[in-house]
Amino acid sequence: LFVDQPLGADTAPTVEGAAAHYLLHVMRAKPGDPLLLFDNRSGEWLATVTDAGKRALTLRIERQTRAREAVPDLWLCFAPVKKARLDWIVEKATELGVARLQPVFTERTIVERVKRERIEAQIVEACEQCGRTALPELAEPVKLPQLLKGWPAARALLFADEAGGAPMAGIDAPAPAAILTGPEGGFTDRERAALLAVPAVRHVALGPRILRAETAAIAATALWMAAHGD
Ligand code: SAM
Repeated sequence: LFVDQPLGADTAPTVEGAAAHYLLHVMRAKPGDPLLLFDNRSGEWLATVTDAGKRALTLRIERQTRAREAVPDLWLCFAPVKKARLDWIVEKATELGVARLQPVFTERTIVERVKRERIEAQIVEACEQCGRTALPELAEPVKLPQLLKGWPAARALLFADEAGGAPMAGIDAPAPAAILTGPEGGFTDRERAALLAVPAVRHVALGPRILRAETAAIAATALWMAAHGD
């Protein structure tokens, strides 16, 4: 369970809100029950419920079980797609271990804005589910030209493109890196040209078929993680 408060040997964390509701009314938590907590700062801790009220729980920290994990240095830059498909990208990329989620608005992006709270909730849920002790960073959405303007030369940008590129499975996956995937309608020729003019860009393909935007994002992430993700 994620708690947004520093945990340590002498702390007595409290759980409120939706997490407390889930623990009290779905899991029927009661005093004496053990619980694993992580704070995105120090790692994971074993705690015991000391007080279970109607809307909040108080816990006692017993001991640390894991240090905060080292996160593989991969960013996923993706054009946001519609609701459930966006949730899927966020959930699977978090499970696979990305360090940063970067929404990118492109010329053909249909979605007009990104609901930050919804994505943050998906991130927390995915971390809790897979036992991840470090939340991926959720960067502020940017437009593609803005992303490219300040692009750090030392970070390879793997531009996934159904219209060309070297098979990603065959390249020596660079690190640190970022993956870029497009929206439902793909990238425009103008965007493609702008991308290919950036020195850090590597043009990559994920096979001969046109993948759904979310499939492409997760397939590329999994390929990179197979090389650097442990
Ligand atoms: N219309 C479908 C949809 O709604 O999901 C397909 C969208 S596809 C054009 C979206 C993005 O996925 C592309 O911009 C590209 O980044 C990536 N993509 C899809 N197939 C790919 C492939 N075979 N190789 C590399 N990237 C691919």
